[in-house]
Amino acid sequence: MDATQATRAVVEEMAAAMEENRRRLTKLDSEIGDGDHGNNMNRGFQAALERLNDAEPSTPADVLKTVFMTLISKVGGAAGPLYGTAFMEASKSLGDGEEVSAQDAAEALQAALDGLKKRGKAEVGDKTIVDALEPAVAAAREAAGEGSVAGVFRAAAAAAEEGAESTIPMTARRGRASYLGARAQGHQDPGATSTYLLLDAAARALEGAS
Ligand code: ADP
Ligand code: MG
Repeated sequence: MDATQATRAVVEEMAAAMEENRRRLTKLDSEIGDGDHGNNMNRGFQAALERLNDAEPSTPADVLKTVFMTLISKVGGAAGPLYGTAFMEASKSLGDGEEVSAQDAAEALQAALDGLKKRGKAEVGDKTIVDALEPAVAAAREAAGEGSVAGVFRAAAAAAEEGAESTIPMTARRGRASYLGARAQGHQDPGATSTYLLLDAAARALEGAS
């Protein structure tokens, strides 16, 4: 399997994960938001899959381009433009290369984080996607020295899972949950949770591809 096919496999696994976890994400978002996160993410990724089947992306960056264009146009709410920006920056970071090294993958994740933070202005501790993605990128960079792209995503997913759990006691300083004040405490952030699920899906797809 070449890197373009592997990237497609990643997106397919992400779409499957959003479908499987639609209710879980919606439940989390109904506790501290408006209960649409699962539907938003699932709709966006199913639409991305459809477009991927029509398009014939020739590089890994092209695959991600199809995803970000779909997320930006199809997913409403806060998360659509934020994830759209993250995939856009990852796509730009990969350039037009046909191969993706572990280092390239870690750099693409770093670019995704930087773009998302610039757009959403959230920092670690604000109870958002950043609480999962920032530690994930740190772990990815550390793993990049030793190994495979799958290893980079496995390390990122493990750190994101912990990061998502770390949002439970937090009060939110960004997004809809920030209106709740202390009432947001005791609930895991939906966006941090979807970040973990997406990275875990990527790791599983790449482990299967190698
Ligand atoms: P909405 O809040 O508009 O209904 P979603 O429900 O799809 O959008 O997404 C909610 C998630 O978006 C939150 O759980 C949080 O993780 C994430 N989020 C909201 N604002 C920001 C931000 N400024 N930066 C990073 N993530 C954010
Ligand atoms: Mg919502």
